Amino acid sequence: MEYRYKTALLKISGEALQGPLGFGLDPDTVDNVAAQIAEVSRAGVRLGLVIGGGNIFRGQALAERGLNRVTGDHMGMLATVINALAMQDALERQGLATRVQSSITMVEFCELYIRRRAIRHLEKGRVVIFAAGTGNPYLTTDTAAVLRANEIGADIILKATRVDGVYDRDPRLDPSAKRFEEITYLEVINRRLKVMDTTAMSLAMENGLETIVFDLQKEGNIKKTIMGEPVGTLVKIGD
Ligand code: UDP
Repeated sequence: MEYRYKTALLKISGEALQGPLGFGLDPDTVDNVAAQIAEVSRAGVRLGLVIGGGNIFRGQALAERGLNRVTGDHMGMLATVINALAMQDALERQGLATRVQSSITMVEFCELYIRRRAIRHLEKGRVVIFAAGTGNPYLTTDTAAVLRANEIGADIILKATRVDGVYDRDPRLDPSAKRFEEITYLEVINRRLKVMDTTAMSLAMENGLETIVFDLQKEGNIKKTIMGEPVGTLVKIGD
C-alpha cells in the first residue's frame, strides 16, 4: 500500500478519548483509536503521538477557579501522562511495541524525552508517545506536538478532532458553515478560527510543517490521511 507520509506526528486531544463519558477515559474509545493507530504502524509508518490532558485537567480552567496557574499547568501535564499510559497499554494490547517519553522526569513510569532515543525507537518501528507536553507551563500540547514533530523530522502533523476539518464558523452552532479543503496558517490566525493555539501555529509555519485536521471518530481516517486521501482540512504554509 502506498503511503504519502513516512513519519507523522499524531496529536489527539484528551477530550477525544473521553468518549460519551464527558470526563476521563472511555476504554472503548481508547481501544478504537489504538486499533486505527496499529493499522498504520504495522504498515511501516513511523508514528509519534502527543496526547492532551483536557479530559482531566486544564491549567487555565483551574486558574479561573482560583488555583495558581503554574500549579494548574503542572496538573494538566500530569493528566497527559495518565492518558499516555492508557494509550500505551491499549497499543500494546494491539501487539505494538511502544515507548512513553515524558518531558518531566518520571523514570519509574516512563522514559525521559531524549530526541535521539525517540528517533531510534521510531526507526525500530516503535510508536513513541510524547507525554507531559513541553514540560513548561503556559503552553499546550498542540505546541508540544509541533515541537516534537519538528524534532523527529515528521512529514506531517495529524490533528485529530471531533469535527471533520476547519470551518469558517462553528458547524455545531451554524449548519450553513463551510468546510475548507485547504487553508493557510495565516488565514486561520487572521480569521480567528480554532485549529491550534497561535504559538503552535507560528512554530509550524516558521518551520514549514503542514497540518491535517480531521475527524478521529470516523473509522479508518488516520490511515486515509496518511495515504494522502482528501480527508478533513489541509493547513498549509502559504500560497
Ligand atoms: N500543559 C502545559 N504545558 C504544556 C502542555 C500542556 O502546561 O506544554 C498543561 C496545560 O495546563 C493544559 C493541560 O496541560 O491545559 C492539558 O493540555 P491541553 O490543554 O493541550 O490538552 P488537550 O486540549 O489537547 O486535551
